Amino acid sequence: MINIVFAARPEKFHLYEAHLKRCLSHKGIAANLTTACAPEDVDYLIYAPDSTIQDLTPYTRCKAVLSLWAGVETFVGNETLTQPLCRMVDSGLRQGMTEWVTGHTLRYHLGMDQHIVNPGQIWDEAHPPLAQDRPVTILGLGALGEACGTALSLLGFPVTGWSRTAKDVAGITCYHGPEGLGHALATAQILILLLPDTPQTENVLNSETLAQMPKGSVIINPGRGPLIDDKALISALKQGHISAACLDVFRVEPLPQDHPYWTLPNVTVTPHIASGTRAATAAEVVVSNIARGEQGLPFLHLVDRAARY
Ligand code: NAP
Repeated sequence: MINIVFAARPEKFHLYEAHLKRCLSHKGIAANLTTACAPEDVDYLIYAPDSTIQDLTPYTRCKAVLSLWAGVETFVGNETLTQPLCRMVDSGLRQGMTEWVTGHTLRYHLGMDQHIVNPGQIWDEAHPPLAQDRPVTILGLGALGEACGTALSLLGFPVTGWSRTAKDVAGITCYHGPEGLGHALATAQILILLLPDTPQTENVLNSETLAQMPKGSVIINPGRGPLIDDKALISALKQGHISAACLDVFRVEPLPQDHPYWTLPNVTVTPHIASGTRAATAAEVVVSNIARGEQGLPFLHLVDRAARY
């Protein structure tokens, strides 16, 4: 019998408990699944970076910390964390992000806003271009970026992607590394940010890189707030170099009430809802990793501590 502690916020336990028990039973794993246990007896921690447990030192027997979040930037540098850390790669999270990104990309591509709110009753018969004439770029070609890029490519958009290491993804023109960024930005009429927040990605969108984008481009950021130099983006929005932005994530959340993003007419603020971990599918991922740990197999979705994602 192994001890598994659900160490995300306790009020979330009821969402996960039945799914975790179903998956454990399916895998034939005898486990005590609980929200509290003596630290030295814990075999696995199902974790969220906003957990009340921040000192991992007493968890001497713990074989892995299994995050329910995809983004681990607030936890990956925790010096008490000596156990393997796995991040969340969940089909529900991926599907939700694909829907959100595709929805907002189509919204800007089709110019939907001008008809949804049209107090001047403007009758403009101009047709939007077809997807094939709207190049889209995704910064970050990981679990989420690749899924979104593939969906947009299947809709007909010419999709360019950028990652840290070289990639080969069907339907996506791939660039990587610092030298690839300029190529990825040069055609980005719609730019989607799906990078993790690391020291290397902070302010990846700044006055210099914004200037490399075509005039009138749109930015969609469901990645993380620190990816954007906010002052530079606000300036580019005011000057019209960037025509609109849809921002789901911010340096400070909730976004402070006096933040300029709330009032800029060409900015949409969404409250970090682009996609969330879904308990039913996430439980399968977590339990699969526990099963691997029990069989002595390497864990899936391990965080690279040096790269910090
Ligand atoms: P992932 O699988 O780790 O993918 C990250 C991608 O970013 C990879 O392609 C990686 O390159 C690339 N990357 C990292 N550092 C880079 C650098 N310095 N230069 C260029 N590319 C770099 O992550 P994911 O699961 O797709 O999630 C991405 C992010 O989405 C998360 O970290 C989180 O912040 C955010 N997120 C937001 C929400 C929301 O609701 N708004 C929900 C879930 C996740 P390689 O492929 O070469 O490693």
